[in-house]
Amino acid sequence: MKTILFHGQAGSGKDTQVEKLLEKFPVERIATGAMFRTMSSEGDPDAVKAMSKVDNGIWPTPEETYALVGKWFSRFDNSKDWVLVSVARYAEQIPFLDEALKPFDREVDLVIHFVLSEEVALERLAGRKICAKCQATYHPKFKPEKVEGVCDSCGSEIAVRVDDMPEKIKERFAQYAKTITPYLDEYKSRGILVEIDASGSIENIHQEVVKALDLK
Ligand SMILES: [Zn+2]
Repeated sequence: MKTILFHGQAGSGKDTQVEKLLEKFPVERIATGAMFRTMSSEGDPDAVKAMSKVDNGIWPTPEETYALVGKWFSRFDNSKDWVLVSVARYAEQIPFLDEALKPFDREVDLVIHFVLSEEVALERLAGRKICAKCQATYHPKFKPEKVEGVCDSCGSEIAVRVDDMPEKIKERFAQYAKTITPYLDEYKSRGILVEIDASGSIENIHQEVVKALDLK
């Protein structure tokens, strides 16, 4: 069974691509976004400890985090192909991910990195507006609201989030560029890195992903 790691920054469309994949292939999508909260609400002692750190503004150590990741993995069907979504984001996390996969007789077989230019990131993310009341999202180019500054769905006032201001997007972009090089180098040296240009259409990118994965 294959273990595939998807990674790319905000705006690269990696989540959309995982969803497209799920429509056609019986893969397990494994993300860790809800892991701490879900497992601590279930009373897992390690998760409760980690969560109390998070609540106090302290990030759990990689040892603590990946011990939970290992338990999280055991919830998924080990007889299927796994798609891990950004389960490792920095080079320093790669050895921990390797260890967490070992009990399942797995190693990362392929890494798909969605490559986004700053220009496209700005086009996709800059100026997005979100309604604080009903969470509807708007985009000046792709999905503008009917009346400037007013939510179509609920009539509340909508505004651009600070995070979606061009300066913030550029900052995040530079930060990502700095951390991603050693990460990609590690997977490149293992010969399992595939880079896919994320600026194309959803369907074209999907075709490239399917080709790279060679799923049955
Ligand atoms: Zn609204």
